[in-house]
Amino acid sequence: MTDASTGAAMRAVVFTGGGDWGLETVPQPVARHGEALLRVLRVGVCGTDEHLLHGGFIARFPLVPGHEIVAEVVGYGPGTTGPDVGTRVVVDPTIFCGNCSACKRGRPGYCTDFGSLGCDRAGGFAEYLTAGVEKLFPIGDLAPEVAVLTEPTACAMHGVDVLALEPAADVLVFGAGPTGLILAQLLRVAGAARVTVAAPTASKLEVARAHGAAHTVLMDRANAGAAEAQLREIAPEGFDAVVEATGSVSVLELAVRMTRTGGTVLVYGLAQEAAIAAIRPYEIFSRELTIRGSFAQANCIGRALFALQSGSVRTEGLVTAEVGLDDFGAALENLHDSAQIKSVFTPA
Ligand SMILES: [Zn+2]
Ligand SMILES: [Zn+2]
Repeated sequence: MTDASTGAAMRAVVFTGGGDWGLETVPQPVARHGEALLRVLRVGVCGTDEHLLHGGFIARFPLVPGHEIVAEVVGYGPGTTGPDVGTRVVVDPTIFCGNCSACKRGRPGYCTDFGSLGCDRAGGFAEYLTAGVEKLFPIGDLAPEVAVLTEPTACAMHGVDVLALEPAADVLVFGAGPTGLILAQLLRVAGAARVTVAAPTASKLEVARAHGAAHTVLMDRANAGAAEAQLREIAPEGFDAVVEATGSVSVLELAVRMTRTGGTVLVYGLAQEAAIAAIRPYEIFSRELTIRGSFAQANCIGRALFALQSGSVRTEGLVTAEVGLDDFGAALENLHDSAQIKSVFTPA
């Protein structure tokens, strides 16, 4: 390597496997042909980061995590051009092989060699990163603290695409984490006449109501039956579509029961890989239920950014903590604090 920037160092959060991580000084990445060098502005901390820490999903160690990235263009690799230096961008973290049968059928979301910045290669919990120029989305005058929710909004957008609602649908969302709160808003944009949100934390339900949820139901995880009675009062015949955005098996079982005959259940939450739910095949058969899944996103970043720019998805109240390189541990702890919604990393 003879590149002029070789030798520069930066600080980064590094996951080393087995649940271990540290703050390290590592070489600053060098943009290759087709890539931009980016200075990190904001990166969202997400439950996926916790799964990666413990070796789940597609983790490859040592790993600089962070896949919900807002950054500023610093420069480009040899023979590469893109948005002006200084432009603020959202980075689409997904990487598709372009060569498997799914990619060749135009369904990159099913790529068998799916990769992602911050999951199997260096991401944004650092001072700098590199990304392909085709993955940069300029944010214009959108504030970085709002733009940082673009990637979760893109994943929710994909979920809404998969759900393919009928106009004026009556929809129930289980979960009021960042994605539940974004999904509840996007479902309105996608045609839901009424959205109900059920979750175990009152403060999060307040945020859901502030962003347009018609009804909210406080759920006690230990007493799902009580929530079922309340939900039946709202929709005696069940909801046209029910979104499970918690990853909990018992909630998925309730989601099936709360779906109207002929309706659809969307499995959005990340359950334990080995978890098994008790669902009666007879019920799916006799009530003609549809069960769909939604995984990550492909090519949804542009629309997600527009949803934020246009104000159809609002982010007030979603970011509950800001953490820097020196207190990144707090961000991991916040993932287990039910009062927290979204922590955002800034390197400074
Ligand atoms: Zn995420
Ligand atoms: Zn592929």
